[in-house]
Amino acid sequence: MEKILFRSTNRQAPEVSFKEALLKGQAPDYGLYVPTRIPHLDSEEISKFVGIPYYEVAFRIIRIYIPEEDIPTSILYDLCKQAYNFPVPIEKIDKNLFLLYLDKGPTASFKDFAARLMARLMNYVASIENKNLLILVATSGDTGGAVADAFFGLNNINVVILFPEKEVTGRQRKQMTTLGGNICAIAVKGTFDDCQAIVKRAFNDPALRHKNLTSANSINFGRLLPQTVYYFKAYCEMGSEKIGFSVPCGNFGNLMAGVLAREMGVPIERFIVAVNENDEFPKFLKTGIYKPVVPSKKCSSNAMNVGHPSNLARLIDLYGGWLTDERDAQGRVIRKGVLKKSPDINLMRKHFVSFSINEKIVDTTIKEFYEKYGIIIEPHGAVSVAAALLANLEIPICCFETANPAKFPEKIRQILGIEPPVPECLARLDNIKENFVIIENNYDKFVESIL
Ligand SMILES: *Cc1c(COP(=O)(O)O)cnc(C)c1O
Repeated sequence: MEKILFRSTNRQAPEVSFKEALLKGQAPDYGLYVPTRIPHLDSEEISKFVGIPYYEVAFRIIRIYIPEEDIPTSILYDLCKQAYNFPVPIEKIDKNLFLLYLDKGPTASFKDFAARLMARLMNYVASIENKNLLILVATSGDTGGAVADAFFGLNNINVVILFPEKEVTGRQRKQMTTLGGNICAIAVKGTFDDCQAIVKRAFNDPALRHKNLTSANSINFGRLLPQTVYYFKAYCEMGSEKIGFSVPCGNFGNLMAGVLAREMGVPIERFIVAVNENDEFPKFLKTGIYKPVVPSKKCSSNAMNVGHPSNLARLIDLYGGWLTDERDAQGRVIRKGVLKKSPDINLMRKHFVSFSINEKIVDTTIKEFYEKYGIIIEPHGAVSVAAALLANLEIPICCFETANPAKFPEKIRQILGIEPPVPECLARLDNIKENFVIIENNYDKFVESIL
C-alpha cells in the first residue's frame, strides 16, 4: 500500500514520513503534522479486534502508519506489548452509559497511553539513527509524570521536565522527581506559563541545537496515533452499531484521536465534546467564531485548563478550515488562534455536540454518580459524564475516566466524605527519596543547569 505521509496544517513545509514527524514534533512552519491520507479499515477487519489483547490491536493499527522499513514488524510488536502491559477495562454503567477506565497505567493517568508508546518509538528511531535526543517538556501536572515514567531507562533519550514549583501536587511532583537516571526534574519559581516560555525559547536557541531537543507534548503526531486504539477497543466491547463518545477535552488530543478513529472506520455517530469552564469550543460550534479563553480558567479538572487547545488546528483542518497563530518575522506569536478559513461548520455540528461543565455541576455529578452507582469518579471523568447526561442522546455513550480519583483526594473527601483508595503505583511514591533542582524563573539559569 502507498506510504502515508504527513503535511503541516500551515501548508508551508515539506511532507514527511511518520518517522520524521515523530522526531520533529512540530512542522518547521509552526503547523501541526496531519496525515495526507487516512487509511480505512472495513468492518470485517475491525470485528477481528474483538477478544484480542489491547497491545495486539495497537500493533495492527499503528502498523498501517509506519512502514516496515522504518520499524520492523517484530520490533513494533514488542514495543506495543511493552507499552500496554496494563488493563483497559470498560464497564457498562447503565442502559446507554459506558465508562472506559484509562487510569490503570503506571502513572494513573490516561497520558500513559500516548507517552508509553511514543517514548518507545522515539527511542527505537533514535537508536537506529545513532542519535541522542533530549526531550524537553513543561508540565502543569499529569504530562510530566507520564513522560518521566514512559522514557525512564531508555538508552538514547534524556528527559528534562520543567514544572512550576508551587502549582503541582505532592504526588504529581514525586512522579517526576523520584526516578533519577535519564530523567531530570527542574522546579521553576514561577507559573506553568513561565515554564512553557522557557521551553519555547530553548527550542529556538542556537546554543542548544547540538542537544537535539525534541518535544513530547500533544503537538506530536506520535502521541496522537496510539490514542486511536482505545476507540476501536471500546467500540468492539460496546456491542452496538451506533455509538457515541463523551470526550473530556483539554488540548483536544484525545478528541482528535477519536475523530481519526472515526475516519478509519469506527462507526461513531456523535462526539460529545466535554469541556470545563474553558468554553471556547462550544461557543465556536454555536457561532462559528473562534476566540481563545485568555488567561485560561482554573478548574479542578486541571489537565483541561486550556483556553486555546493545540489540536484544534488539526480538527479544523480536517473539516476544511485553517486555524493558526499569527507570527512576526522572528516567529514570535503576535495573535493566538486566528481562523484564516472557516471549516464546514454544518458538518461539524452533525458530528459534534459540546458542553461546558462548570465546577458546581462537576461536584453534583461526582456526588450523584457515587450515590447511584457506587463508583468514585474524579473531576475530569465527571466533566465527561455530566456532558453525556446533558446531551441525552438515545445511543450508547462511552465516557472516559482519564485520571485516578486518588490524584484528587481533597476533592473526593470534600464531596463524598471518604478517602479514595490509593493504587499501588501512587502509594509507593510516599516513601521514595526525591531529587530535583530548583531554579529562579530565568532562562539563563535554565541553560546553565542543563549544560
Ligand atoms: C490531558 C488530560 C485530559 C485532556 O486530554 P487532551 O487530549 O489534552 O484533550 C483529560 N484528563 C486528564 C486526566 C488529562 O491528563
